[in-house]
Amino acid sequence: MSPDQAAAYLAEIAYLLRHKGDAYRARAFTKVASLLLRDRPDLDAMARAGELQRLEGVGAGIARTLAELIETDRSDYLDRLREEQAPELAAVEPVLEISPLVDMGYRGDLHSHTDWSDGRATVLEMARAAQARGYEYLAITDHSPRITVVNGLGPERLAAQRRLIDQANREMDRLTILQGVEVDINEDGSLDEPDEALASLDLVIASPHVKLRMEPAAMTERMLRAVENPHVDVIGHPTGRRPGSREGASYDFEAVFRAAAERGVVLEMDCDPARMDLSPELARLAASLGCRLGLDSDAHAPDQLIYVDLGLWTARRAGISSDRIVNWLALSELREVFG
Ligand SMILES: [Zn+2]
Ligand SMILES: [Zn+2]
Repeated sequence: MSPDQAAAYLAEIAYLLRHKGDAYRARAFTKVASLLLRDRPDLDAMARAGELQRLEGVGAGIARTLAELIETDRSDYLDRLREEQAPELAAVEPVLEISPLVDMGYRGDLHSHTDWSDGRATVLEMARAAQARGYEYLAITDHSPRITVVNGLGPERLAAQRRLIDQANREMDRLTILQGVEVDINEDGSLDEPDEALASLDLVIASPHVKLRMEPAAMTERMLRAVENPHVDVIGHPTGRRPGSREGASYDFEAVFRAAAERGVVLEMDCDPARMDLSPELARLAASLGCRLGLDSDAHAPDQLIYVDLGLWTARRAGISSDRIVNWLALSELREVFG
């Protein structure tokens, strides 16, 4: 079994554990999945030699699960969790294969943060990490100003960041850095940046961050207004949920997704293990209504770009094919989509 395949199973187990409130065990599985992706051990050989527990963070329990996966390509534990936590997806036929992202045709990440807002690394550090992963592009999408704790960027700082990104692009050879923003969707559905600032960017992600528990009819209006804003290219983590700890927004998903499909607005599958938003269930609904999806890390540090690998299984479980996912587009196609 390849490390990617094993990591996908472990990431799914982590997600289902988190979903039922076992965040501690979820973190243990996520850690091991990340390690498999980073170190790429020869799992078959390790299993044959009974050495799985030599992997960092692998105790008796995870070793048992891994051994069963390697031997049989399934796990009783995972099957039980699926039955309990995600029965809706039981009958879905996966379309996507699981292999290294770039080998599959994944070309770049459209949601990341830097030290201009609440990220931990510079633009160049994030770009170099994306280039090392073989990406063709990386979008820097720092926050808008409203939530003050994240040190968001208003129009002036966005313009300054643009100059820096232009300079950084001259220093990169293969990778193109796109400048975006992750703009807050205000309670009334307006956005937390003036139109002129949004118009100057390569892409605009509009995300709900606060007041998520609005009454569903009002929340539907709020999301519809955001989708209908001509500057918006992507709706980021469309419910704002955190599985196991914060229920996300509830609204008329069908109405909002239909509007997104009509306007060509992409719905994000935010792969941060603490979010996984859209859920596989909602991503499936969105795809069935004709939406394009984005598979992004929402990384706040270079090593978090790996979140996309950890979230890839969600697209697979949702039965989504790569032609629905914008991260498979070449840069020129992407620019057309985001106009
Ligand atoms: Zn966000
Ligand atoms: Zn973000």
